[in-house]
Amino acid sequence: MKRDRNVIKVDFKPPENAVHHPCTAIRDGDWLVFRCSECSSYERRLNWRTGAMKVKNDSPDIFHTGEYFPREYKEIFENVN
Ligand SMILES: [Zn+2]
Repeated sequence: MKRDRNVIKVDFKPPENAVHHPCTAIRDGDWLVFRCSECSSYERRLNWRTGAMKVKNDSPDIFHTGEYFPREYKEIFENVN
């Protein structure tokens, strides 16, 4: 099993005149799936191996950002005294 120790940060668009919606991400195999709590139909998938990206129902007025923290990395943080 591959372990990722780097935090993957993704800025999807420049934030000019846009509402900011932070997204939560889950990992689905090679894909990171970003979903917005305010836009139920929005979904962005990023393949962390190939860099390919797929978007559903994106809005030009909304600045979606997403962060994905690999589980191992989060545990390291939590164990720091
Ligand atoms: Zn949104």
